Amino acid sequence: MTSITLVQGDITRQHADALVNAANSSLLGGGGVDGAIHRRGGPAIPAECRALCASRYGKGLPTGQAVATTAGDLDARWVIHTVGPVWSPTEDRSDLLASCYRESLRVAGELGARTVAFPAISTGVYRWPMRDAARIALEAVGSSPAAVEEVRFVLFDTSAYEAFARQLDDR
Ligand code: ADP
Repeated sequence: MTSITLVQGDITRQHADALVNAANSSLLGGGGVDGAIHRRGGPAIPAECRALCASRYGKGLPTGQAVATTAGDLDARWVIHTVGPVWSPTEDRSDLLASCYRESLRVAGELGARTVAFPAISTGVYRWPMRDAARIALEAVGSSPAAVEEVRFVLFDTSAYEAFARQLDDR
């Protein structure tokens, strides 16, 4: 049974077996969590991302999928990169957001990661409303069959933390 914990903070300061990155499909880094992970993780992460793009993801990592690299200088063994969907007011993309969590946990389980830290995927530049994103994230993690002991959501600010805490209480 996976335990779900919430903390407020910066994911790049966390110790866990795997840290999940809200990447973009190019895997080359960007803003938000992605920028912070690449900055603090050092050059080993983009080097491995470039190799993955050259070998498996010439067209980029598809939305909803996940792939692992080294965690470089971060206090973790792996970074699992996943590409969240951009929020749409006209199209229901919840399955893709849920898939980011499920696929990241599947990859984590395959690697043997026991503790996995997630940011609130798609809630930054990709504009997903926090409350809805929290519901989808908690449902997806709660129903994942992956043999991971702890899933820790690392929420950057108070309002994100409170949105996740409320959804967790409602479950
Ligand atoms: P996306 O493109 O998937 O929306 P972002 O990185 O823009 O990804 O934002 C995702 C969420 O991560 C947002 O809620 C943002 O506030 C938060 N965030 C940004 N930097 C960090 C960090 N260093 N640690 C944890 N969460 C972060």
